[in-house]
Order: sequence, then C-alpha cells, then structure tokens
Amino acid sequence: MNKKAKVILTRRWPERVMAEMAEKFDLTAPEKEGILAGHALVRALKACDIFAPSVFDAVQAPLINALPDSTRLIAIYGVGVNQVDLAAAKTRGIVISNTPDVLTEDTADLAIGLMLATLRRFHEGETMVRQGRWQGPSPLGFLGRKLTGKTLGIIGLGRIGLAVAKRARAFDMKLLYHSRSRKPDAEKMFGLNYLDVLSDLFKQADIVSLHCPLTPETRHLIDINALRLMKPSAYLINTGRGELVRETALVAALKDGVIAGAGLDVYEHEPRLSRGLAKLSNATLLPHIGSATLESREAMGFRTLQNIEHFLKTGKPLDIVA
Ligand code: NAP
Repeated sequence: MNKKAKVILTRRWPERVMAEMAEKFDLTAPEKEGILAGHALVRALKACDIFAPSVFDAVQAPLINALPDSTRLIAIYGVGVNQVDLAAAKTRGIVISNTPDVLTEDTADLAIGLMLATLRRFHEGETMVRQGRWQGPSPLGFLGRKLTGKTLGIIGLGRIGLAVAKRARAFDMKLLYHSRSRKPDAEKMFGLNYLDVLSDLFKQADIVSLHCPLTPETRHLIDINALRLMKPSAYLINTGRGELVRETALVAALKDGVIAGAGLDVYEHEPRLSRGLAKLSNATLLPHIGSATLESREAMGFRTLQNIEHFLKTGKPLDIVA
C-alpha cells in the first residue's frame, strides 16, 4: 500500500471535509477550533509533504524556509494570497495553490449585504430595537439612502467584482468599473462602463466597492486623496482586503463627513480596528466573513483536497497560483 501523504492544516475545516482528508492523507490539524502555531507548528512541520494554511495565516519567508525538503505544495484554503511570500516559495521550488470560484457568490452576496446594511442603517436600527430604546416608526425615523438606481463603482472586475455587478443589476444600478485590464464581453453582457482613470470612478460613484487583490500596487488605494474625490454622499464597501484602505484616513473621513458611510468586512490590522472606527454609527463592521457559509467553507476544503490529490498525481494543482 502507498504511504499516505503527510498533510498539515493550521486550522480545522468543516467536519465533512476533515473526515475525508483524514481518510485520504496522514493528517495533522488542531484538535479544536484554533490555530496550529509557534512550537507546535514547527514540530508538526518537521514531517510534511503538503502544508495547508488558511488565507488568514501569515506564510512568510522564515516559515517557508523552515519547511522540510519533502514539502512540495502549499495549498491555501482561500483566495487572496497576500499573506504568502510567493518569492520565498519560488526560491524553494514549492508550488502554491488556492481555492478560487467556490467562494465568489458568497463574498459578492456579502458586499451587496453591506451596501444595504450601510445605506439603510441596519446596525443603528437593530441596536436601538434590541436596547428597548425604539419609540415606534415615524416619518423621519431612521432615514437612510436608497440603493436602487445608485451608481456603483467596482474596483477589480474579477470573479467577485463581476458577481457583484450581476447582483447590482437587480437593483437597477448604473455600473462603472476600473480594473487592470478591460473586459469588453462583461461590458456588453452586464452594461458595465469602463473607467481608465481611477479618479473618475471616485468622482462619479455613489458606492465604491473594492474587489482587487492586495498587492504593493493596490495597498492604500483608498487614502485621504481618494476619499476626498468621492462625493460627500458616497459610501465605501470593502470585502477585498483591509490594507487596500488607509484606515486612519477612512475613520477621519467618516467622522468629518468627507463620505457618508462605509461597510467593511476586512481591516488594515485584523483583528484590531483603528482608533475610533468602532464608535462610528455610519460604518457597518463585519468580522471578515465573506466566505463564511457552511457551503462555501466546505467547498473550499473539498477544493483544497482536489488540489492536493491532483498535485500528488500530476505534479500540478488544479488552481495554481505560482
Ligand atoms: P480575481 O478573480 O483575481 O479578481 C481580481 C481582479 O482585480 C482582477 O480582475 C484583476 O484584474 C483586478 N486587479 C488586479 N490588480 C488591480 C489593480 N492594481 N487595480 C485594479 N484592479 C486590479 O479575484 P477574486 O476571486 O475576484 O477575489 C478578489 C479579492 O477578494 C481576493 O484577492 C481577496 O483578497 C478578496 N476576498 C475576500 C474575501 C472575504 O472574506 N472578505 C473572500 C474572498 C476573496 P485582471 O482581470 O486584469 O487581472
């Protein structure tokens, strides 16, 4: 019988996936919810063929260099690979895979959810109801802003950006986008208008939604200058990565009325929030849950499993990042 590949997980995945992983591989994973880190991780990694961290874990050069020569694949559970030192992996000849597509719909749903929640002031209203401070409905109570018909500016028209555009059409929104490359087919199919110059998108959009990856080029894409270009009535939605936004500038802009509000799933220094952010009533704040449905988290696990199996058979994962 062939020896099973040694696979190390930094975190537990949904149980259905864990059961299949344990059947197919010689699996090491934390016993309970939590993270395999520090000495325990270093010990586990001494015998490792496949390292499977989650997208939330930093996989930097010291960790990559500590992997034994037997480790040929780092199979990331998630899409964004900004926490992985791709150059260090390349130097060691280690292949990287991720799990695109399977979390696209849920992350796009969450972006639309954040738009509705922020424009319609869900958080403020819900808090008042729960605290027993609600005096009943009134003509001027909790006036928000209408989502239907607004102009949406999508930055990064990839899988998730496009899924957001599809959903936004159901709200009769006017669609603008800026991306690294132009997408003529999507423009035709979904009525998207390409803006080559990012500042034009900031000026025209009622809602700016971020869906590009975090790279050195996109880090702090939203800074005080970008925020000042936006309309005072505009909203920022971020389900991409926290570091796309200079958070201190955003807090100041939300406080000073430079923009009207923000809906955030991700933060610059997760899980810490910049000072003042938690107090702002015009911000909706979620705990990085873009892909957090049982369906997506299982699909991400099974996709990782397929990547590992394909890699073991052919030397290449299905979803190769680098
Ligand atoms: P994707 O399909 O690769 O799309 C990314 C898009 O961004 C691509 O269209 C790309 O353009 C564009 N882009 C790259 N650099 C850019 C730049 N400098 N300026 C403008 N656009 C740029 O990725 P995806 O699957 O949609 O995921 C997007 C991001 O969402 C991930 O990287 C991840 O950080 C984030 N995410 C968050 C959650 C969450 O839980 N909140 C869940 C999943 C993903 P080209 O098409 O020309 O390459």
